[in-house]
Amino acid sequence: GGEHEGILRRQSQRESAARTYARSLPIVPVRARGLTIEGADGRRYLDCLSGAGTLALGHNHPVVLEAIRKVLDSGAPLHVLDLATPVKDAFTSELFATLPGELADDARIQFCGPAGTDAVEAALKLVRTATGRSGLLAFTGAYHGMTAGALEASGGAADVRVTRLPYPQQYRCPFGVGGERGAELAARWTENLLDDPKSGVTTPAGMIVEAVQGEGGVIPAPDDWMRRMRRITADRSVPLIVDEVQTGVGRTGAFWAVEHSGVVPDVMVLSKAIGGSLPLAVIVYRSELDAWEPGAHAGTFRGNQLAMAAGTATLAYVRENKLAERAGTLGARILGRLQGLAAAHPCVGDVRGRGLMIGVELVDPDAAGPDDPVPPPAPALALAVQQECLARGLIVELGGRHSAVVRLLPPLTLTDEQANAVLDRFADALAAAER
Ligand code: PMP
Repeated sequence: GGEHEGILRRQSQRESAARTYARSLPIVPVRARGLTIEGADGRRYLDCLSGAGTLALGHNHPVVLEAIRKVLDSGAPLHVLDLATPVKDAFTSELFATLPGELADDARIQFCGPAGTDAVEAALKLVRTATGRSGLLAFTGAYHGMTAGALEASGGAADVRVTRLPYPQQYRCPFGVGGERGAELAARWTENLLDDPKSGVTTPAGMIVEAVQGEGGVIPAPDDWMRRMRRITADRSVPLIVDEVQTGVGRTGAFWAVEHSGVVPDVMVLSKAIGGSLPLAVIVYRSELDAWEPGAHAGTFRGNQLAMAAGTATLAYVRENKLAERAGTLGARILGRLQGLAAAHPCVGDVRGRGLMIGVELVDPDAAGPDDPVPPPAPALALAVQQECLARGLIVELGGRHSAVVRLLPPLTLTDEQANAVLDRFADALAAAER
């Protein structure tokens, strides 16, 4: 207890005011395995945050630890810049075998690093180099990272080169119609903007999109809309960048979320789970886009051997154990039970997701105006639900523009019993927060 309090106090004094997770989750993790984290105060938690979607196999999975130990025990160098190694060779082979469509045979890989935002920067730079253009198409509610270029794409900073397009939403549809019609209107908006000479939007260097918006509040894009984006970009020779940083490695029920639609992107941005819980980020892209000059993109930490080994083990484990399919079926079951909760609790405005990427949007039904298609978001209630979850030993994250969406990102290794335990605690927490 003393150690727990002391560490929390010192870190809250010493760390920047930008601390995020540490604010709402005052936990001092000292041990972890699978779904469970143990705090310095001896309390145990079911972790449905999973390092913001990083831990496909949960904490300290034996195959990941074994892969890391093997590198450590082999005497292999841990730091080699971007030199070729057997560890890198194995990682690249395993990764390429998972890639959709033509990318499996004809991809190039750029090791970036070490974070997702670095890979986003590389992707933006690559398409600007390859096309000689500068503009970018990005979407409302997008999240691509916190460095300058990624932040522009996320809508965090105003930049004339970024054209913001509507992302289709069932709930809170920007066109007020939802469903297929809403997605159709979102697509048409994009086409009109690109085709209207008076819009001021010239052919951009690329379009960057998430197949399921994560930080944006778990918003899955309809497959038809994704195919439409592919056609719109292909017809205009605009490279399509799909950011799979959070959706990748089986989480949504396919190995890569974009595969649900059958779309093959020109560039994929990959991080989080590909490093098996260690920092690793890459872009993979069609070989004809490989317009870099030697040295055009560099970085000291592009060769993290331990992360590549942990990543190889993770990718192989997900593939061999069909964990993407498992995420799909288990996710559908969890969604079903959450929909039951929604029916019983008017404060649950929407339940949505794909695979084990799940969002529960909390709303204030009493505050809805007569003309509001849906009630306004309820961030205070969402925070209360998160805290009630924590009090019951369940770690969940909040997301969405108003932080009113409770996000569940459990490991893909989640068992049925664990899923039930998570749902029981969540239901209790919701009931307690509502009171
Ligand atoms: N893209 C997406 C879709 C993300 O969800 C995130 C992180 N949540 C990033 C990029 C940025 O990754 P990182 O935090 O590792 O920089």
